[in-house]
Amino acid sequence: MVELRSVHKSFGSLEVLRGLDLEVRKGEVTVILGPSGSGKSTLLRAINHLEKVDKGWISVDGALVGYRRSGDKLYELRERDVLKQRTQIGFVFQNFNLFPHLTVLENVVEAPISALKRPRKEAVAHAGTLLDRVGLADKADAYPKQLSGGQQQRVAIARALALEPKLLLFDEPTSALDPELVGEVLDVIKDLASQGTTMIVVTHEIGFAREVADTVVFMDEGLIVEQGAPGDVLDRPRHDRTRAFLSKVL
Ligand code: ADP
Ligand code: MG
Repeated sequence: MVELRSVHKSFGSLEVLRGLDLEVRKGEVTVILGPSGSGKSTLLRAINHLEKVDKGWISVDGALVGYRRSGDKLYELRERDVLKQRTQIGFVFQNFNLFPHLTVLENVVEAPISALKRPRKEAVAHAGTLLDRVGLADKADAYPKQLSGGQQQRVAIARALALEPKLLLFDEPTSALDPELVGEVLDVIKDLASQGTTMIVVTHEIGFAREVADTVVFMDEGLIVEQGAPGDVLDRPRHDRTRAFLSKVL
């Protein structure tokens, strides 16, 4: 579903992704772990066209994302194709990023109506189903600030699902939450995983990784240091850097 080959990305003189390779299979959950500043968010943002890569290529479900170097010529996607691909990838941010001036329901129906041109009635019916699925059917008319962080993040997940994406990206979805609210958000993500949604989840929740991930990837300094089944990477890490990181977060 997702393939990255030798992806490079710098901000000025800072090389954030240093020739990164990654494959994510359809229907699988990939959890990415790694210290702050290792390039995890940049990696997710590149997959979703929020950052352009300098070199290498990324494809999502066979469609090329961003830049490719073909000979000396940089190949760039047309704006139209970028917009189309972005509607097929859901992104859930650490800080929810809901529209504060819109109700929960309006947050969820906004993209299907404006980007997919769905009839309003159909979008509202679908939003009802999604809010029910994340346990917030009774909050449709509330505004984000009237909700807890855990509820807001569940709305953000419903909003991402409203586009029926083929891929869901989560960037530390529970890091901004009070500890007692983490579980309700992870439960929703677990539920999606059990239904075969393809997901890449950046998180420090090791218990979640152990339970839900098909593959755990440990990233450091813009490269993947090791990856494999959760039992291998989390319990029998082969690299010192992975061991050092795990000893801090476990
Ligand atoms: P992580 O998510 O693993 O903490 P990031 O991908 O956010 O790491 O960032 C990797 C590095 O790139 C950090 O040093 C960060 O400060 C830097 N960085 C990220 N985005 C930008 C940007 N837009 N401009 C300059 N530096 C950036
Ligand atoms: Mg980050």
